[in-house]
Amino acid sequence: MRSVSEIFHYHVHVYYDLASRERALILREQINERFQVEIGRLFDQPVGPHTWAQYEIGVFGDELARFLPWLMLNHQGLSIMLHPNTDLEREDHASSAMWLGQPVPILLDRLDASLMAAGHGEPRAVTINSQARI
Ligand code: ZN
Repeated sequence: MRSVSEIFHYHVHVYYDLASRERALILREQINERFQVEIGRLFDQPVGPHTWAQYEIGVFGDELARFLPWLMLNHQGLSIMLHPNTDLEREDHASSAMWLGQPVPILLDRLDASLMAAGHGEPRAVTINSQARI
């Protein structure tokens, strides 16, 4: 059994295309107004393991229990991946990930099986309420 203490924090990735970009931007503003989370910048091009345009929301601790039910009801049909951030980066994005809406392909070979073993250390900490990054 793995321990939940392995989880540093969570990422919510919101995917969009040209047709859904405006919806994704509105959702991002709504999230920023309501939750104590880190709002990531927009990536209009695929980056890292992500094959679609997306932005990332960093969520720490108990805020996930407040944020996730709201997101279930308000994701506007967008494809969204929730994953934990542990040392096991590849598994975090594969068998440990959860989806709202239609899943999109993730390039798992771009991720490390173990961050520590790859010499990367812990995932970057989440900076809560980083509206300045919008
Ligand atoms: Zn992520």
